[in-house]
Amino acid sequence: MNSALHHKERIVEFVRGIYGPDFIPLHRPVFAGNEKKYLAECIDSNFVSSVGQRVNDLEQQLASFTGARFAIAAVNGTAALHIALVLAGVRPDDEVMTQPLTFVATCNALSYCHAHPVFVDVDKDTLGMSPTAVARFLEANVVVRDGKAVNRTTGRRVAACVPMHTFGLPCRIDEIVKVCSEFGIPVIEDAAESLGSYVGERHTGTIGAIGTLSFNGNKVITTGGGGAIITNDEEIAKRAKHLTTTAKRPHPYEFFHDEVGYNYRMPNLNAALGCAQMEQLPGFLETKQGIARRYAAFFSGLGIPFLQARAGTRSNHWLNAILLESKAERDEFLRYTNDQGVMTRPIWTLMNHLPMFSACQRDDLVNSLELEQRVVNISSSVPDPR
Ligand SMILES: *Cc1c(COP(=O)(O)O)cnc(C)c1O
Repeated sequence: MNSALHHKERIVEFVRGIYGPDFIPLHRPVFAGNEKKYLAECIDSNFVSSVGQRVNDLEQQLASFTGARFAIAAVNGTAALHIALVLAGVRPDDEVMTQPLTFVATCNALSYCHAHPVFVDVDKDTLGMSPTAVARFLEANVVVRDGKAVNRTTGRRVAACVPMHTFGLPCRIDEIVKVCSEFGIPVIEDAAESLGSYVGERHTGTIGAIGTLSFNGNKVITTGGGGAIITNDEEIAKRAKHLTTTAKRPHPYEFFHDEVGYNYRMPNLNAALGCAQMEQLPGFLETKQGIARRYAAFFSGLGIPFLQARAGTRSNHWLNAILLESKAERDEFLRYTNDQGVMTRPIWTLMNHLPMFSACQRDDLVNSLELEQRVVNISSSVPDPR
């Protein structure tokens, strides 16, 4: 029997070999660089809030790291996604295609626009949106009228498509962008989990029209809470900065706001933390890759599927994941490992299984339904060097 449940003691022993004898969280942040120094400088400067040099510095560093022309820092990844959707032209009563296998923030953000999610299935190898499912859905349900993609069943406009790079595994984003472009539908990449993940040499989040990042406490790098919009489009970048800063016209002392904006700009304190984290990001990615390699070899020896980036792509190895054989086996494995102080977690409940999204239109979701029962995340932190 090559099941994870059968090998549960060996798995816990292996994880303890990497992380030691204490309680092992799924993913904890590491503050081993200039965090305290930059935070102290920030406090000493009095610029702790939404104006300050660290915010600009972080944006520069994010643009340079991802290769995006522009990066706009925000209070969190959900807010970044909200603004990205507004800028892609999502309006009340529009529909937005997304995957049911995601963190709830993706669907919350499009609900803030009063748009309706439409769920299309994921690929089994990437856990990300399937271009085949997108094409199938569009061909069966959507017609282009006067340059607008219209869902024939509901009569609503399909205004955007939001795929997600699950756990840092790049989805088939080129194919998704291609299919959507045939219907004139812009793609927003939810790259909250994939800072440091690449398709070929291109960073995730830079392939669709707009990408969004998150720096929540459990992500690859953290600013406490934070996020960013990345784009190559100068007009979108300008609008993103404007909308996230209360739509205030820049002026040394006058207050003039030319539309309803949002107080979504990342504070300087958070950006100070982010600048210190960015310095360590290449090291974090290298360490995470080493750990993922060890896991891959170990699980392959046990005959247990360990999820890995598809050919031609690179994962940041944000969260490592294995596939169990059934929900019953998964539940037993989760109970055992968490009892042992080795935190493990099932993948999210599908969005269409949550009360507020249960009535949304969807395709058969065959892969999502199976993955919901079988995927388990295992310890993925960078071991704290202190
Ligand atoms: C973390 C995350 C977000 C954004 O979360 P915030 O906590 O608001 O920064 C969005 N989408 C996905 C898939 C995420 O994992």
